[in-house]
Amino acid sequence: METLWSDFINSEWHDWKGSGRSEDRLEKLPWQSRFLSDWQLRAPVPAAVGDITAMRQLRKGLHALAVKLAGGEEMAGEDWRLLNQYMEPGRVYREFAPGDGGTVKLEYRPVAAEWEQVMAEVAASFGQTVLQGEAGRIRVCDNPDCRWIFYDDTRNRTKKYCDDKMCGNLMKVRRFRARKKAGQNPDGGAEA
Ligand SMILES: [Zn+2]
Repeated sequence: METLWSDFINSEWHDWKGSGRSEDRLEKLPWQSRFLSDWQLRAPVPAAVGDITAMRQLRKGLHALAVKLAGGEEMAGEDWRLLNQYMEPGRVYREFAPGDGGTVKLEYRPVAAEWEQVMAEVAASFGQTVLQGEAGRIRVCDNPDCRWIFYDDTRNRTKKYCDDKMCGNLMKVRRFRARKKAGQNPDGGAEA
């Protein structure tokens, strides 16, 4: 499942097919526009150089945190302080807005259309994932070339790859080839 914070972290893209290629999409205009539109956030495109630098810093911090939680560790006081530091400039105002099925809900809306505000939302979304007792569902894709960060929303919490059809299949093929190379007959049938 894609979340605001994982989408943000994964702006640092690595070629999952293993070419060794990687790309920082954060500074790319199409990424910025797509990200804002997908998450209904507002900020100037292109983002200023200072904003890009700050976002890379946040991304680095969140990436380290995600890897730590994916490894079974818990949030420490300094981790919460890091999130607070990015949330502090993101001022909000309150509004009662229509919810599902005729209900009314309290919404917190950003005051400014700035990347600072976007970073506050990203930090808040990470913290909320942890607070909802779901930090144990944060994963790093098991394909070492991919390293995609994702949220495992499967019932039995066994999702290993960002995408079973892509990384999952690729790793299956690699294991198959490795076994074949080791002289075993992997499928139990005649070798082609
Ligand atoms: Zn992957």
